[in-house]
Amino acid sequence: MTIQVDYGSHDALLVVDMQNDFCEGGALAVEGGSALVPGINAEIDAAQAAGALVVATRDWHPVDHVSFTHRGGPWPVHCVQDTEGAAFHPDLALPDDAIRVSKATAFDADAYSAFGGTGLGGYLKEKGIKRVIVCGLALDVCVRATVLEARREGFDTLLLERLSAAVDSDAVTECRQAFSDAGAEVRS
Ligand SMILES: [Zn+2]
Repeated sequence: MTIQVDYGSHDALLVVDMQNDFCEGGALAVEGGSALVPGINAEIDAAQAAGALVVATRDWHPVDHVSFTHRGGPWPVHCVQDTEGAAFHPDLALPDDAIRVSKATAFDADAYSAFGGTGLGGYLKEKGIKRVIVCGLALDVCVRATVLEARREGFDTLLLERLSAAVDSDAVTECRQAFSDAGAEVRS
């Protein structure tokens, strides 16, 4: 497995929403989700060995969350707190000291970005993080929002596109343009 990044102590690897519901067999499966796991695990290993922070985000909704279709939202029921669907993919090798960030935990608000309502941006700055490296699911939804908000938060931002997958493959071109316009680097 080729490592894509030369990590350092001012880096944070952001693993976005690698949860059962977003992988094959899940409630909101993204095609190619499970296949990302070995490559992401290799990056986690390399990041940890270099003293970088490893952060894993998870969508973590209450029952009857506002984003669910029966509440008028755009998505089927997914990632309900403490369910199997909300668990991290079983093969994702998160170190014990990886930082877990739960998002969209309120009934009445959705959050796509890892920085949305989580305080993560301030925390990373306190830790001296200058660059975030992003991978995970889904490229055109939560990864997209996370990359763009990382730039707004002032971090150098690198997206590992090979370690991400989109809900709608037709949206990828527009995403790349948005990342480029925001000053994020995309490694394909
Ligand atoms: Zn969600």
